[in-house]
Amino acid sequence: MKVLKFGGTSVGTVESLRNVKAIVDSLDAPAVVVVSALGGLTDYLIATANMAAKGDIAFRDNVSHISKRHFDIIEALVSDTQQSCVKEKISQMLTELETIYTGVSMIGELSEKSLNRIVSFGERMSSFIISYILRDAIHADSLEYMKTEKWFNRDIASRSLTDSLIRQTYALPLEKTVVTGGFISRDKDSDEITNLGRGGSDYTAALIAAALGADSLEIWTDVDGFMTADPRIIPNARVIDRMSFIESMELCSFGAKVIYPPTIYPVFHKNIPIRILNTHNPTAPGTLITDNNDSLEKCVRGVSSVKKTALVTVTGSLTANVAEINSRSYNAMARNGISIFVVAQPDSEKKFSLAMSSADLQRAEAALREEFAPELQNGSISGVEVLDNLAIIAAVRESIKELHGLGPRLVNTLLREGIDVKAISDGASESTIALIVDEKETDRALRLIHTACFG
Ligand code: ADP
Ligand code: ASP
Ligand code: MG
Repeated sequence: MKVLKFGGTSVGTVESLRNVKAIVDSLDAPAVVVVSALGGLTDYLIATANMAAKGDIAFRDNVSHISKRHFDIIEALVSDTQQSCVKEKISQMLTELETIYTGVSMIGELSEKSLNRIVSFGERMSSFIISYILRDAIHADSLEYMKTEKWFNRDIASRSLTDSLIRQTYALPLEKTVVTGGFISRDKDSDEITNLGRGGSDYTAALIAAALGADSLEIWTDVDGFMTADPRIIPNARVIDRMSFIESMELCSFGAKVIYPPTIYPVFHKNIPIRILNTHNPTAPGTLITDNNDSLEKCVRGVSSVKKTALVTVTGSLTANVAEINSRSYNAMARNGISIFVVAQPDSEKKFSLAMSSADLQRAEAALREEFAPELQNGSISGVEVLDNLAIIAAVRESIKELHGLGPRLVNTLLREGIDVKAISDGASESTIALIVDEKETDRALRLIHTACFG
């Protein structure tokens, strides 16, 4: 049994939905099909919510536009006999959506709770309609089985509960193809509508694949596969035929937007292969992601970049005690729910740097100052400095250390072109070399590193 996920880029228009139908209808067994909202709709729902909150009554025109997009699709692709039932259900949802927008405009304020409810309509509508477009398919409401819990003010998937609800919802073997909405969820305690974060439909699909022990997870998108870099920044990026789970996990967590980062782990854990395929070019072979870490080729697998990064650097003699500085810093971050992107610890200098999201910078600095307060007093730590508006450029490949001298070569590539490298993490990870540069140099640095790695 396969789980197929079609992103907004695959379900945005009548034309691309015809491709989705051709792909799913030609499968030889029933599958689970996870879909996103129509392309661009989540952004549009959010923009409309902001209009309503500012009292701009043109939000009503936007609701009409949303309605037209969905109705056009129903009229083009749902059979005549089923159109009225599908239209009725979508009309009910649109009425509910408009009521929420009206409430937001009356209060003049957009709460997180209202926004979560608003954006959920994207996947609720698309999945319902698509279940009537595909041959012999039924619909499953993801709000019934995808549950989240709070973790430091964020909504994260509540794994064991969700796993068992998925198994109850999808009795195996499947008798029919089941279409369900990605991204959306409910809080397991309050039952409020939540979501898994922008781009989260990939993660929904991965959780379903893992819970059901699927044979494979197919991520259908608008590019021919996982590429050596973001093709919007590097037009000559190439498709990677095969890569390992670890490599894809690293590239995604360092900004390769093709898969939402938490997606890989659940399927990796169950050793379920992932394929990245193109809805607009379905015969292209795509990328196969497995546990195969065959790194015979003497080159990097891919490069990626992540902006909005900050760096906290601790200096002083205590940093020579690698084990202590590492574990105390990690614990201080973990206690505050801060994820560390990379650790940079040059051999030659008495310093230790942690890179994280700019949004976490203030809390990270405060946490480190608190953790090392005694050492700041006694002088074994001489300072805690922060730098913001940075970016990470990551070069990824399993056993990257086998590529001897790659770190210094990449640093020199940037220095020669006048790009200052604020820190480098070379050796802290088995599979990634990370260079930290000024955010405004991100794209130029990525191009230089891509050329250095792939020509
Ligand atoms: P979907 O709607 O299918 O979820 P996304 O926009 O989330 O699509 O992801 C696909 C996009 O990811 C591609 O159009 C591409 O621009 C971007 N992307 C970024 N990095 C990479 C990469 N390394 N390989 C392929 N695509 C990438
Ligand atoms: N529709 C959601 C978004 O735009 C989820 C997704 O597409 O994966 O972020
Ligand atoms: Mg996506």
